[in-house]
Amino acid sequence: MKRKGIKIIIPKRELDKRIRELGSKISRDYAGKEPILIGILKGSFIFLADLVRQMKIPHQIDFIAVASYGQEVVGSGAVKLIKDLSVNIEEKDVIIIEDIVDTGLTLNFIRKNLLLRSPKSIEIVTLLDRKERRKVEVPIRYVGFAIPNEFVVGYGLDLAERYRNLPYIARVEGARLAQRKFEL
Ligand code: 5GP
Repeated sequence: MKRKGIKIIIPKRELDKRIRELGSKISRDYAGKEPILIGILKGSFIFLADLVRQMKIPHQIDFIAVASYGQEVVGSGAVKLIKDLSVNIEEKDVIIIEDIVDTGLTLNFIRKNLLLRSPKSIEIVTLLDRKERRKVEVPIRYVGFAIPNEFVVGYGLDLAERYRNLPYIARVEGARLAQRKFEL
C-alpha cells in the first residue's frame, strides 16, 4: 500500500491559542458552577487534557465510549455504548467534549442518551466542526475550528489507530471520508 502524505492544516501554536480561549470562555460562562466534562473516547483525550488545564473553575471529568453498529443499520445513526459514565449526572451541568463533528450522528446519540439521565444542562464543545457533511443538527455551543471536507488526523484523531500522537491537525492525502464505517 502506498504511504499516505500528511499535510499540517492546524499547527500546534494555533491549537494552543484556541484552546486557551475556549478554556477562558467556558470558565467565564460557568462561573460559580462545577460542570462535569465528558470526553468521548478515544479521539477527544488529548483535547480534553489540554482544555481542562486552561479551565479556571472547579470541574469534574469523565469519559464515555461509543461505536457505530455494523453495515446492517448503516444510515440509521445507530450507535452503541461501549463504555458508560462512572458518575451520576442527574441535576449536573454537563459539557460534552468531542474531537470532531461530522455527520452529527454520534453526538446526537450521546446527547439524547445523556438527556434521559436528567442533567441540569448539557452543552457541547468540539475542537473541529465539518459542517458540510452534517446529517443531523446538534446544538454545538463551542467550536474550536471549522474545517473543510477532508479526512484529518493528529491531536487525538487517528487513521486505523495511528497518528493520534501528532501535536497538530493534519490532513491525510488519499484517505477518503467515504471509507468511514457508517458511510459504506
Ligand atoms: P459523526 O458521527 O459526527 O459523523 O462522526 C464523529 C466521529 O467520527 C468523531 O468522533 C471521530 O471519531 C470520527 N471522525 C469523523 N471525521 C473524522 C476525521 O476526519 N478523522 C478522524 N480521525 N476521525 C473522524
